[in-house]
Parts: sequence; C-alpha cells; structure tokens
Amino acid sequence: MNDEAKILVSACLLGEPVRYDGQCKALASQALKQLLSEDRVIAFCPEVAGGLSTPREPAEIQSWQTIHVLTASGHDVTKAFQQGAEQTLKLCQQHAIRVAVLTELSPSCGSSQVYDGSFRRERISGAGITALLLRDHGIKIFSQYQTNQAITELNRLG
Ligand code: SF4
Repeated sequence: MNDEAKILVSACLLGEPVRYDGQCKALASQALKQLLSEDRVIAFCPEVAGGLSTPREPAEIQSWQTIHVLTASGHDVTKAFQQGAEQTLKLCQQHAIRVAVLTELSPSCGSSQVYDGSFRRERISGAGITALLLRDHGIKIFSQYQTNQAITELNRLG
C-alpha cells in the first residue's frame, strides 16, 4: 500500500464512460499519469455513486439556497446528487484526501462554473453539489484545467 498522499479525480476525466451522455473526457496530463502509475489517484463519479444510471438525462442546479437539481424533463434528482456528494466525501475521508481535480461545469463536479439551470448551455459562476460539500470540509478543488496547480498543492500538503 502506498502511504503517499492521494488525489481524487472525476472518473470521467480518466476515461470512464460515466458522463450523462455515456461518454468520457480525455485528460492529457503527464503529471497526473505519473500519479496514476504510483497508485495515488482515486477515480470516482458522484452521480453514479448516488444511484443514477449511465447514460442519463442531463440535470442542472436550479437553486443553491435549498439545493434543488432537476433533469431537463423536470425530474427531481436532488437526492441522488446529495447522496453522491456524501459518498464522495466519505471516500475522501477514508483515504485522507485533501486535493481533488473535478470536471468543470458539471452540476456535481464543477468548481468555478456551472450551467444556470435553463438548459440553454448558459454558464454562471458557481460550483456543483459535490465540489461544494468537499470544499466545505477543507478539500482543495481544482478543475481539469488546473491539474498542475492541483499537483503543486498535493505536494505542498505532503
Ligand atoms: S458526476 Fe463528475 S465524475 Fe461523474 S460524470 Fe459528471 S463530471 Fe464526471
């Protein structure tokens, strides 16, 4: 077992086809690939962990004050999103994870921008349900565009 600090990464960034459309995203980061080879990367998808199927209807956050997440057809998936976030936090706590690289714009994983709830691909400042919960518990969240910063932080925290 590797005792060096681990990093959480959105599963879809590591080639797992867990996105709502059944696709994945490609993350071209040599530094992250190095961590993968050292068994220091934990891949996780909060939405799948929360019980949602793949593929699934796209969902967007409608309200942050009282968290409310709806699919495009109006199905309330708030509970699944919250359960996924809680499971992600539990996993981070089990592995003492303090840094995460999460997929920008996702209603679960987005860290600085998400869609505005209109399903018109309009972006607004904000974060997804999982990113918010992890951040509230002191975990540093970075997007896939900030991988080098995430690894610098991982090394700084030791
Ligand atoms: S919830 Fe996160 S890990 Fe899962 S598909 Fe969406 S962005 Fe990727």
